[in-house]
Amino acid sequence: MIYNEDFETLPREVLEALQLKRLRQVVQRVYHTVGFYRRAFDEAGVQPDDIKTLDDLRRFPFTAKQDLRANYPFGLFAVPMSSIVRLHASSGTTGRSTVVGYTKRDIDTWTELMARCLVAAGLTKNDIFLNAYGYGLFTGGLGIHYGAEKIGASVIPMSGGNTKRQLMILQDFGPTAICCTPSYALNLAEEGKAMGIDMKTLKLRVGIFGAEPWSEKMRLEIEDALGITALNLYGLSEIMGPGVSMECQEGRHGMHVFEDHFLVEAINPDTGEVLPPGEEGELVFTTLTKEAFPLIRFRSRDISRLLPEPCRCGRTLYRMDRVTGRSDDMLIIRGVNIFPSQVEAVIMEIEGLEPHYQLIVDRAGNLDTLEVQVEVSEQLFSNADEVKVLQNMERRITKNIKDYLGVSARVKLVEPKSLQRFEGKASRVLDKRQI
Ligand code: ADP
Ligand code: ZN
Repeated sequence: MIYNEDFETLPREVLEALQLKRLRQVVQRVYHTVGFYRRAFDEAGVQPDDIKTLDDLRRFPFTAKQDLRANYPFGLFAVPMSSIVRLHASSGTTGRSTVVGYTKRDIDTWTELMARCLVAAGLTKNDIFLNAYGYGLFTGGLGIHYGAEKIGASVIPMSGGNTKRQLMILQDFGPTAICCTPSYALNLAEEGKAMGIDMKTLKLRVGIFGAEPWSEKMRLEIEDALGITALNLYGLSEIMGPGVSMECQEGRHGMHVFEDHFLVEAINPDTGEVLPPGEEGELVFTTLTKEAFPLIRFRSRDISRLLPEPCRCGRTLYRMDRVTGRSDDMLIIRGVNIFPSQVEAVIMEIEGLEPHYQLIVDRAGNLDTLEVQVEVSEQLFSNADEVKVLQNMERRITKNIKDYLGVSARVKLVEPKSLQRFEGKASRVLDKRQI
């Protein structure tokens, strides 16, 4: 099933002509409304009129996450605040999180794109839809919610967590479709089983999972444990939120990128060179229709590849493969994005700690765990005969990590000079998760 036949099945040349028209408009618009872009284009010696073909975009500079941080919170908005009807922020509650804004029309676009995703997964107005993506500043919950209402499904705005209640609702309300992170889906299956629920007899038939990396192996596990079809949904707040790309039921391999709204390139993350379709690289997105917060060549840091082969479903939109990694050190822990530097900032606020730390990420059952090991200073170590002092400190760091970054961590203070030292780039993260 295709929600918007007109735009999802355009012949490539028609689609590309539409992309070019929209690209020219958005590049003009940001040049005249966003100081950052005017300066960046001038510095790179490019002008909006230079865009004569889609390939001309390659001469334009990238936008990086740091540029968003440097312009925190609203510096890159291309419309006055009076036109903004919604704000979201990506995970991390420090001042450095990314804030995104939407106009009324942006919300309508997002709603349509999410409707496309849900229809691609086979949902109709006859479905009861359990939305277990988090509601709030995170784009997941509300973004998907609007799309599900748009197609007329009966939406249960459950949000994340509260597993016992989710399981009760799964049994009592009989949702036929669910949306959450893939690891949470496995968690639900496991807890349900432990409570004696036969998960396969539930009415659920399809699940839409995203917001964190997962594998084909996990897909099979989820499908088997819940007796459903599991499909992949991709998005990032900067570009829109969920609904940038989505797998279709027919293809079940790679997610169709909604190219009438987003122009996607794959680049070599080291050189910035654009790669031919099919080659693995970092995905770079340009928004073609966004009003409030347009982005030109935003480096997603997600590693994947573009799949230009036609799909059985009839959509002509290119697909992107599963995200296989990141070209930076961002971690996604229980759906929350974290950079080691953010943990470091929390640690360094506390006296008596050394800037030597290690993050150990693992998965216990189906839940991500984070352990933070930090060296204490010689001075503190020699004075702290009292275990209590160290315990209090661990508690304080745990609380600050939870408050500032939004994740629970197990903090362990370790002796001075006990952690590994690095000669080159420090590798602070030990990711033991096998997904
Ligand atoms: P979202 O609300 O869409 O999760 P965030 O901005 O918080 O947005 O996080 C976006 C990041 O989450 C992406 O850049 C990517 O690394 C990761 N992500 C989102 N969806 C997927 C997916 N289906 N597979 C792998 N990673 C994903
Ligand atoms: Zn398809």
